[in-house]
Amino acid sequence: MTTRESCDVLIVGGGPAGSSCARQLRRAGLDVLILDKSEFPRDKVCAGWITPQVVEELEIDTRDYQQGRVLQPITSFITGMGERTAKPVHYDRIVSYGIRRCEFDNYLLQRSGARLRLGEAWESMERVAGRWLVNSTISAGLVIGAGGHFCPVVRFLGANLGKGERAISAQEIEFEMTDEQAEHCDVEHDRPELYFCDDLKGYGWCFRKGNFLNVGLGREGNHRLPEHVHAFSRWLQEQGKIPTDTPARFKGHAYLLYSHAQRPVVGDGVLIIGDAAGLAYQESGEGIRPAIESGLMAAQIVASASGDYSKQRLSEYETQLTARFGDRNHGASLAGSLPESWKLALARGLMQTQWFTRNVVLNRWFLHADQAALRA
Ligand SMILES: Cc1cc2nc3c(=O)[nH]c(=O)nc-3n(C[C@H](O)[C@H](O)[C@H](O)COP(=O)(O)OP(=O)(O)OC[C@H]3O[C@@H](n4cnc5c(N)ncnc54)[C@H](O)[C@@H]3O)c2cc1C
Repeated sequence: MTTRESCDVLIVGGGPAGSSCARQLRRAGLDVLILDKSEFPRDKVCAGWITPQVVEELEIDTRDYQQGRVLQPITSFITGMGERTAKPVHYDRIVSYGIRRCEFDNYLLQRSGARLRLGEAWESMERVAGRWLVNSTISAGLVIGAGGHFCPVVRFLGANLGKGERAISAQEIEFEMTDEQAEHCDVEHDRPELYFCDDLKGYGWCFRKGNFLNVGLGREGNHRLPEHVHAFSRWLQEQGKIPTDTPARFKGHAYLLYSHAQRPVVGDGVLIIGDAAGLAYQESGEGIRPAIESGLMAAQIVASASGDYSKQRLSEYETQLTARFGDRNHGASLAGSLPESWKLALARGLMQTQWFTRNVVLNRWFLHADQAALRA
């Protein structure tokens, strides 16, 4: 028989968005329950790359985290459009880390201090006496949707998931290399490699963290995605970068970039955070940091709402998202109005320059070096 439970806040989804929001709410003294359809540890299709701002926002003690988990410091990158323009960019400090999502997400979830209800999917919710009754058994004053791209709570709020949405589709593989495979892997531990597609609609990566190798490619739309992925993997093998017996079964997932998402994020007694709200950074597709930041922002607003979870009171959350990540419908840029062939030629030219690669592609687009960590 399913247990009946009651809580101040129910968070649907125990990924980085849900667990960081839960931790902050617990600190504010609220009773929080996390519902996730998966048992943890669970894996998530992801390259597993995070910036130091994420470590800071989550107050992760890196020495503690490293005990029995992979935390790969990154101090350089190789980027380009194919081998011809690929070049290394070095830093004199750690500019990112590689983590494994099965470890990272479980660490954050267990640390959150929330009560956990795992292995149970969200199925329904209805209003009963001014509270939510979820799955006919959980009574909550507020429900936070943190269920990722296909979050059922944002669908409940009226989002038309998948229909007419301009999603990024990505495929990835992560596996532990044998000693022999590691010998035939030319990717440096501290130096992920990023290769932009010829049409600039996405990029592929190969990324070594400890003994684990992560290879993948993400693109706008899903047109012929498996072909792009396999061509990329073959090319890496031909270059001697990854072992020739790299498994060919890639796993796929989709998500929304910030300016492509038009989902509701606030309702009466409901907030939406992380991928469910479509927050990933435009140029890099990095989604973990915005997921965490949205979780922290939501927690702060909920904690100061004194139990008033009306849409009007919670709408401050949407205002804060816009202040942090910008207007989703910002005007077209000059580059955006250029013909496609010009843009490609311009991009290829720029990619050849060390200055553009370091300062724009890496520092600004991928590392968001100019944006300090969000203070919890
Ligand atoms: C191939 C690929 C590579 C990526 N690489 C990176 C990267 O290197 N760095 C980066 O920053 N971002 C990356 N991203 C994006 C990143 O994975 C997401 O932005 C991030 O996981 C969002 O976190 P979240 O907590 O919002 O959602 P998720 O991590 O998706 O967590 C959602 C949780 O909700 C649960 N859930 C779903 N449906 C239900 C339901 N019906 N009932 C109950 N629970 C449910 C799921 O089990 C899951 O645990 C990548 C994405 C892809 C596809």
